[in-house]
Amino acid sequence: MDNIGKITFVGAGPGAPDLITVRGLACLKEADVIIYAGSLVDERLLANAPGAVLHNSAKMALEEVMEIMLREFRAGKKVVRLHTGDPAVYGAVSEQYRELDKAGVPYEVVPGVSSVFAAAAALKVELTMPELSQSVIMTRAPGRTPVPPGEALEELAKHGSTLCIFLSVGDMDSLCAKLVKAGRSPETPAAAVYRASWENQRIVRGTLADIAAKVADAGIKRQAMIVVGEVLTRSGELSKLYDRHFTTGFRHHKFSGKVAVFALTRQAVLKASEIASGLADARLFVPEKFAGSAPELRRSCFPEGGFGRCFAENWPRFDAFVMVMAAGIVVRHLSGLCSDKKKDPAVVVCDEQGNYAVSLLSGHVGGGNDLARDVSAVTGGRAVITTASDVEQMPAFDEFARRHRAEIRNPEALTAVASDVVNREKIGLEMPRRLFDACFAGREQFTLLRERTDGRMLVHAPRATLELALPFIVLGIGCRKNVSSSRIAAVVRRVLEELQLDMADVSLIASASVKQNEPGLLDFARENGLECRFFSAEQLNAVPVPNPSAAAMRELGINSVSEASALLGAGEEAVLIRTKLADTDVTVAAAERRSVE
Ligand code: SAH
Repeated sequence: MDNIGKITFVGAGPGAPDLITVRGLACLKEADVIIYAGSLVDERLLANAPGAVLHNSAKMALEEVMEIMLREFRAGKKVVRLHTGDPAVYGAVSEQYRELDKAGVPYEVVPGVSSVFAAAAALKVELTMPELSQSVIMTRAPGRTPVPPGEALEELAKHGSTLCIFLSVGDMDSLCAKLVKAGRSPETPAAAVYRASWENQRIVRGTLADIAAKVADAGIKRQAMIVVGEVLTRSGELSKLYDRHFTTGFRHHKFSGKVAVFALTRQAVLKASEIASGLADARLFVPEKFAGSAPELRRSCFPEGGFGRCFAENWPRFDAFVMVMAAGIVVRHLSGLCSDKKKDPAVVVCDEQGNYAVSLLSGHVGGGNDLARDVSAVTGGRAVITTASDVEQMPAFDEFARRHRAEIRNPEALTAVASDVVNREKIGLEMPRRLFDACFAGREQFTLLRERTDGRMLVHAPRATLELALPFIVLGIGCRKNVSSSRIAAVVRRVLEELQLDMADVSLIASASVKQNEPGLLDFARENGLECRFFSAEQLNAVPVPNPSAAAMRELGINSVSEASALLGAGEEAVLIRTKLADTDVTVAAAERRSVE
């Protein structure tokens, strides 16, 4: 019988010999025969296979390549077919795959870093920038290989997406002319990257109007990637978009606290690793024998049969547990550990496929429902919530307190109030109107009995009255002249999102007296129904702050606008709950005072 060999197609990467993948390199090291694609594979890569027979395919026809491949394979050799970049783009691999399929010869493919990504790296550009383009078209001008009519450059230009054009730098003039004719502005930024990642890499930047001439001046005729699109505008010059980019990119975790993630089987360990790396602060606990499947930096191991003990020992050390295993196992181990609804950590159970994240314990106060939602956001599964008030979409006041940073003054009333809420009894509230509107408006069961602004909130249910202490939250805002209210709103939104607060939780806005007539700031206050209080330079400079601003000192003689005014606005014993978030033209800080005596 034939000695059975192996055929592997390997993406060599864009050029630099260390941009091959670890797996690709391992294949080279093992190879007996390497057929590589001439000028775009750095021959230094081949030094990794000192024993291999080498064939340069640059001048070979498909038949020759196939003949060598099949002959060596049948002789039991390990054959590597080395392609530039990634084999899947303009790699001419499909005809080779087809021939191998016909011959019934098995093969595998190891991907590589395409030159399109090496070019993006050289340009330091994100090809998919929010607001500018969320699609990338990889294409080419027609050459010996024609391009199907629907994919003519003129057609593709209409999308306005980022274009990455291979194999086409030889005819830049007509390429740019076609794009402009199809409606892309001559001002559209464009770049050519010659031999990205090679030692003789060169970058030419311009616009559709002048890039062709610049590329010709540079003498570049081949081996270049052309990138066209607004994304090439450097982000610094587009601070507004930059800012929005960050707002939309913000990953919103609902649960905050230390999480332990436990798994028992190998599949579960993989799922648990995925969950742990998607949460803000998580540690993994896995059986010793599956340690290799979990990332070392966040992993702890327990020995065979040691799960129960490890779980019990860690019970007091974490705010929450995510258990990737059958609910029954968890329930059995929980007995004896649970003590108090207000103190027990949250427990979420997740199946090993990640289809369901079940909030099992401490759903409200402990944040288990939020954690179940976070876990399901990571796994793409469903959060299973069984606490009555959530199921009925009714607010639970323990959760309300946690969300709004309020303190519960008489926790002993919680249970009675909660069951009145669930049983649809009428509930009367005394609280700030804005907060009532944001949280309870439109729910018939709840009425605002009296507006209160003294920081006390009362929940009158038939069987008990719950008392909460609301914090007094102040946003300190600094801004450049003539900044729009929507810019201010965007930066404020980021701060609030981070604090997991609503605009309705804010009691006051504060700034410096020099901003007293700043239209954007006044508009922002008015749009949100908030008072804006102003403080003089002298008042502001008397407040010690963590992040004084050299620019404000130079321009206004003020040490700090946002942090100092937030603290002054919140009054005595105020603390900063968010230090200054500084964007190009707006700074925002938040301070809080715990109110009632
Ligand atoms: N499979 C390869 C592309 C092969 S087609 C990949 O994934 O990159 C060859 C074309 O790719 C060249 O004409 C050029 O447009 C582009 N290319 C390949 N290597 C490049 C490099 N290092 N820098 C810029 N462009 C490159």
